[in-house]
Amino acid sequence: MSLRFNALSELAAESGAGNEATQKVTAIFGENVFTLDKARAFLSDEGYKSLIASIKNGKKIDRNLASQIASGIRAWAESKGVTHYTHWFQPLTGATAEKHDSFFTIKSDGTPIEEFDGATLIQQEPDASSFPNGGIRATFEARGYTAWDPSSPAFIYEVAAGKTLCIPTIFVSYTGESLDYKAPLLKALESLGKAAVDVANYFDKNITRVTPTLGWEQEYFVIDEALANARPDLVQSGRTVFGAAPAKGQQLEDHYFGSIPERVYAFMRDFENEAYKLGIPLRTRHNEVAPSQFEAAPIFEEVNIAVDHNILLMEVMSRVAKRHKLKVLLHEKPFAGINGSGKHNNWSLATDTGVNLLAPGKTPKTNLIFLTFFVNIIKAVHDNADILRASIASASNDHRLGANEAPPAIISVFVGKYLNDVLNDIETRVGDKFDEQDEAILKLDLHKSIPELLLDNTDRNRTSPFAFTGNKFEFRAVGSTANCANAMIALNSILADTLIKFKAEVDDLIGKGTKKEVAILQIIQKYIVDSKAVLFEGDGYSEAWEKEAEKRGLPNVKTTPLALDALATDKAKKLFSDLGVYTHRELEARHEIELENYLKKVQIEGRIMGDLALNHILPVAVSYQNKLAANIKSLKELGFDEASYAAQKDLLKRISDHIQVIYTKVHEMTEARKIANAITDVRTRAIAYESQVKAKFFDEIRYHVDKLEALVDDESWTLPKYREMLLLR
Ligand code: ADP
Ligand code: MG
Repeated sequence: MSLRFNALSELAAESGAGNEATQKVTAIFGENVFTLDKARAFLSDEGYKSLIASIKNGKKIDRNLASQIASGIRAWAESKGVTHYTHWFQPLTGATAEKHDSFFTIKSDGTPIEEFDGATLIQQEPDASSFPNGGIRATFEARGYTAWDPSSPAFIYEVAAGKTLCIPTIFVSYTGESLDYKAPLLKALESLGKAAVDVANYFDKNITRVTPTLGWEQEYFVIDEALANARPDLVQSGRTVFGAAPAKGQQLEDHYFGSIPERVYAFMRDFENEAYKLGIPLRTRHNEVAPSQFEAAPIFEEVNIAVDHNILLMEVMSRVAKRHKLKVLLHEKPFAGINGSGKHNNWSLATDTGVNLLAPGKTPKTNLIFLTFFVNIIKAVHDNADILRASIASASNDHRLGANEAPPAIISVFVGKYLNDVLNDIETRVGDKFDEQDEAILKLDLHKSIPELLLDNTDRNRTSPFAFTGNKFEFRAVGSTANCANAMIALNSILADTLIKFKAEVDDLIGKGTKKEVAILQIIQKYIVDSKAVLFEGDGYSEAWEKEAEKRGLPNVKTTPLALDALATDKAKKLFSDLGVYTHRELEARHEIELENYLKKVQIEGRIMGDLALNHILPVAVSYQNKLAANIKSLKELGFDEASYAAQKDLLKRISDHIQVIYTKVHEMTEARKIANAITDVRTRAIAYESQVKAKFFDEIRYHVDKLEALVDDESWTLPKYREMLLLR
């Protein structure tokens, strides 16, 4: 029996029972996190104060205190049965990495003890030679090390009976260059925080801190594990490279917000419990548009924490799924012809005075602060659409952005009709009358119940990659497998850059004697004029928009190798290095790493296609051919006339034709890969993989394989079919 049929018979026996407990979330929330109340209980006054200062103001913790903190953390962890610790970090491979060490050690005199000192807490040297580094380590012959990030709390990760203390860290080369997502993210957040406080202080001197916030929405598919394991393409690349669309697909759209299947529901409650223990504030769970597709979303948090929590959740989900004999598919496009998965990044700015800067206030003054940040964001996106596009580029996300699917590769901003009118108003009606006096500002009429109107009017357009949704922006083009940090580094950096320039321009006007509010409005007006090309309210998936966007001069880059060019421009180098987020070398290294990641993924998929075609598809098709041929032969021998086996002959012919094409194309694709592999320049090689391997062969080979699936005897087809993976409950 093939794996497919084994899996199908096992599936019938699956009960769907879960071992999840029904308890209040608050009873377990944060149980496995070294939260501040635990820090209070386990640390000395001194240690606690120093930790707080470090979290709040990024103050360095000195070695002595670090040792106190380390033993406090160890005492807490041991009280929970932990024996090992690890520095947890986010290398550029997309997954997280860790190396588990025991607290157990032997002193120089031979005494065995349990120990976790300050030095071990602060810094580790993982053997990291296998992590991507874009040539940085190679040229400097330097080792990488991980360094504690006190702003993200330590947590205990439970795998089966084992419990490990995880210390969130950044990962840098020996020469200080960042090799992960967290280090540049922290720098980007810090520079935006500073720039935003400076601008916010025009309006309110009490604001001393501005914190970017992130609430992601994680989409994913869940299918039966045994069926997934019978698909080598899913196992190796996370997506199906072949598979004919099921008769009952998404057309009916009865899945969206429908009831969640029992088995999946049990799984959800189970992983949610695990997530709560880790302090991940999950709140919503629901079905998505496609069959077997779901979404999880938390309450928003500070960006750094939200990013860690997303990465952790992806791991937790995949691990917990095993207990339920399910498989989570986080890939952006696991199934062709069916909605892909994204990870909307809801993003806003919060002040330490408790204000959401993107919530339009009721009074003209709070409206002006809102407008200032709102317009600066639009300007930042307009001026740096290419950088944003690069931040979400990946081989797997190309299946969404590059195809005519949600969302498009063109970065535009949706603000809704009401705010569009407000912007037009400022641009035209008020015109150059700003120099009159404060009344001119009040006459903007902005206080006209914006908040109420917004909530009704903003969220209508689901085709925009970057939409204002009432009190936050929603960056919808982020891929479901992505580390949000990549998009967040870009977004927070471009806004920091824009705000710094904004402040310089406003200060300049003020210096020339213009009133503050008037100066602000004048620059806002200028920014609206400069960046209105990026505003778009229509259907982002339409062909008309592609044409229109081209006319407006907006970039529309459909493939990753070209989208990544935005990292190599002088503009990007200047922007990121001025902010201290990336040095030129770091940016170049990242560019190279992303290109490598891309071409490796395409290379693997090409190989998988070849293997599956030759080892699974063709053998089945050929033996079915034999059956047909034998049938025709015997009918003929028995004296039947030609007409009575015409159908068999036709079928035989069609199958033969597909087989010939598949065989030839697989061979040609292998040759194309060899040619691409010989190219030394990584960018040219990535482009070759895109244009000469993927674009030339993937769809064509798939077309013929999917035709065969529809023609060949179902009983002998070895790969689980779409209808089995997607529609079984
Ligand atoms: P939808 O599915 O309609 O896009 P959801 O309600 O599922 O919306 O998700 C909204 C997301 O926005 C949640 O993750 C929530 O935490 C997040 N969010 C709400 N307010 C903010 C904010 N001020 N900053 C960042 N994220 C926010
Ligand atoms: Mg959303």
